Amino acid sequence: MTIKGPRDLPKMDDLLKDPQLDSLKQTQGYLPVKEAVRSLLEAARQTLTGAEGPTHPDAVFLDQVRGIGRDEDTKLPLSRQSLLEASRLKLESEARPGIRKVINATGAILHTNLGRAPLAEQALAALAECSRGYASLEFDLKEGKRGQRTSSVEALLCRLFGVEAATVVNNNAAAVILALSALCRGRQVLVSRSELVEIGGKFRVPEIMEESGALLREVGTTNKTYLADYEKAIDDSTGALLKVHRSNFRISGFTEDVDEADLARLAHQHGLPLIYDLGSGCVSTELADLLPGEPTVADALASGADVICFSGDKLLGGPQAGIILGRAALIGKMAAHPLMRAFRCDKLALSALEATLTLYRDPDRAKQHVPLLKSALYDSKKLRERTKKLAASLAHHRIEARVVASQAIMGGGAAPEIPVASWALAIKPEPLPVSSLESALLSHDPPILCRTTHETLLFDLRTLSGPDEDLLLTALLHIFNREVPLP
Ligand SMILES: *Cc1c(COP(=O)(O)O)cnc(C)c1O
Repeated sequence: MTIKGPRDLPKMDDLLKDPQLDSLKQTQGYLPVKEAVRSLLEAARQTLTGAEGPTHPDAVFLDQVRGIGRDEDTKLPLSRQSLLEASRLKLESEARPGIRKVINATGAILHTNLGRAPLAEQALAALAECSRGYASLEFDLKEGKRGQRTSSVEALLCRLFGVEAATVVNNNAAAVILALSALCRGRQVLVSRSELVEIGGKFRVPEIMEESGALLREVGTTNKTYLADYEKAIDDSTGALLKVHRSNFRISGFTEDVDEADLARLAHQHGLPLIYDLGSGCVSTELADLLPGEPTVADALASGADVICFSGDKLLGGPQAGIILGRAALIGKMAAHPLMRAFRCDKLALSALEATLTLYRDPDRAKQHVPLLKSALYDSKKLRERTKKLAASLAHHRIEARVVASQAIMGGGAAPEIPVASWALAIKPEPLPVSSLESALLSHDPPILCRTTHETLLFDLRTLSGPDEDLLLTALLHIFNREVPLP
């Protein structure tokens, strides 16, 4: 029966008795179901009376049942059944975790808002295995006694990068604070004015420096810094020279930078360390070839820097972590610092990191298994073929999608603007506005994120795994068939 006015609304108790809600009562409990029905009746009453004020937060579920983006008179009528359906949608949406899988069709390979690097299967397996039960996190199985939680990852890092010492903390921001606190507290640290950057999420070099207790000594200018600028600034109170990867910021035109090797030489002449915040930590040379100007970890080490640090979940493609490599005496001071206890990694991150690093022992294995490398290095011609196939499947269902050349980006605060050639599906959702398709995509399970230009939705395939591609196809068929019924 169609509900035309508030008086036609069913009684709550009556709705609650409907057998369609039985399974929800079983899976979610009686009270949440009652609350959902009450709230949906309230939303419906508000819609029917056209009450002023903000839209009821649950009106969105009624809209989903009655057709998104339609005018009031072309929507499916409000009925007892639509109320039940909307209640079910609300309950299902409440049961979904806040952090859940999404499909990233944006083409941003390292998407800071979408969890940065996806993990390799090997990393996931290690993480699950070590977390499901007990693990030798701080137990030395050779000695049969208490061990140190980072020792196996440290040994692996030393072998992999040929360094004297290494350690790991929660993220790279922590690594930088730890290095400055442990090595430079109360002493001046020289930084070029062109590197006093803010990197997403309030990581601001001057503020981090202040927090650490080291004293910032700016050298050079915003666009030009010479070796002589550092040289002039060195005195008895100098604790270190710091080089910061500019990451999400570029300077161009009339510029001058000091090479890290020259900086390291100068530091060493004065018995000082060079600390290098490398940011992304690119290990793969093939990936570096895609990213002009991006140094690899090996490049940074070859420059002679004494401590280098970088993220585990940027260009390395592992879990969130801050990896620190360098000279044993300096790393030892950092490891012994009280902040180390606050910054230490848990078993989830350490096991996933160890598995990811193990893949890098053979660059081909890394290329084959680390999702970030797979996405970034995936052959563009093959990507085009996959996009064409997807467009053909959609055409089969009378959904028009063009195959267009696209520019994916590396993203992740690392090399955010460096384009990576890609292919995308372009869909003009006419007659619907783009915004309503976007919200249908976001409320789909799993949610889908894409790019929008000129009233067109772009689905970039570079960031889609094979299974994600299938999920995207299913989602588009589902959404279009419901929102734009075939004639
Ligand atoms: C990303 C970045 C950081 C912060 O690293 P997190 O792992 O996000 O904490 C610090 N320094 C540089 C240069 C960066 O690019």
